[in-house]
Amino acid sequence: MSKIGVFIEIVDQALGKSVPGVVGAACRGGDVVGFVLDDLADKDRELLEEYGVTEVVVVGGREVALSELPVSAGLALADAVKASGVKALLGVSSSTGNDLLTRAALSLQAPLVLDCTGIDFNTNCVRKSHFSGKATATLQLTAAPFVCGIRPNSFDPVPEKVACTITKFEYAGPIDDAITVTGVEKSGSGRKDLAEADIIITGGRPIGSSENFKILEECADTIDAAIGASRAAVDAGYAPHSMQVGLTGKIVSPKLYIGCGLSGSVQHFAGMKSSKLIVGINTDKDAPIFSKSDYGIIGDLFEVVPLLTRQLQKR
Ligand code: FAD
Repeated sequence: MSKIGVFIEIVDQALGKSVPGVVGAACRGGDVVGFVLDDLADKDRELLEEYGVTEVVVVGGREVALSELPVSAGLALADAVKASGVKALLGVSSSTGNDLLTRAALSLQAPLVLDCTGIDFNTNCVRKSHFSGKATATLQLTAAPFVCGIRPNSFDPVPEKVACTITKFEYAGPIDDAITVTGVEKSGSGRKDLAEADIIITGGRPIGSSENFKILEECADTIDAAIGASRAAVDAGYAPHSMQVGLTGKIVSPKLYIGCGLSGSVQHFAGMKSSKLIVGINTDKDAPIFSKSDYGIIGDLFEVVPLLTRQLQKR
């Protein structure tokens, strides 16, 4: 049986929320081997077992360089992948995932496709969208191993309890010190990461000021949501670019996307069209967002959102 590798991303000392979905994608192709560059907590190992990961390779050696330098971490991941004989390496298409998968693919001289929304291990074909979501390309990867970043929430985790063995891989290769990380600062609002969120509530241009995002924050707190912004809101200085959703912002696919005061531009839609359920709130009944929404609320966001928050708080 083939083996499929998954880069296990650790976010804030815990298993990245989108990792089980990527494991779900990998299970379709064979036994799943996880590669982890950090310490793996017992509860995370148990979770990986629940979802069918049969082996976890803890990549160690030259630890300091690995944790500080993304270039060296990519080299180490590539060496571990090469030694394991997996047919493919998948990971979450997050900023960390894209960074490491790209560096690993380069070192492996392997084909790379990021932000995939579909994968077929029989034909080695992957699917990804192009041109603001207007076209979907199917790409066949003819070399092994190949490397794929999977868009968060594109696959559901598949519960399949197995026993998981832990092995160690000691990296002894070169340390590339061309880049030195001198510090890491959290960007954005310090709230839930957009890429990891099941629910996102987004403010558009009519939000009017950064203070007014408080209305969205109060609602987000009741439903454990992340907060996004349109480019118009970002360009106006109401929100940082790290909150921007769309073609030139983040690509997201939450279970629920609530757009407040968004016109529904193609560029914004390109970043959130694969959301499972879209709710639009707009004063204009003819706004394009409504033709792209599963549910539409015609109304002023400054009235509708506080009302929604109050109702949600009663739950
Ligand atoms: P608007 O277009 O101004 O729409 C505001 C909407 O709010 C209107 O429909 C209005 O009826 C409604 N409204 C007004 N008052 C209220 C109220 N009180 N309550 C409820 N509704 C109200 N945009 C992105 O978002 N992300 C991107 O990544 C992005 N990338 C781009 C890349 C390129 C190359 C280009 C050219 C553009 C890009 N844009 C992007 C910009 C995009 O074209 C739109 O200009 C932008 O998305 C509009 O933002 P908006 O919907 O917040 O504002």
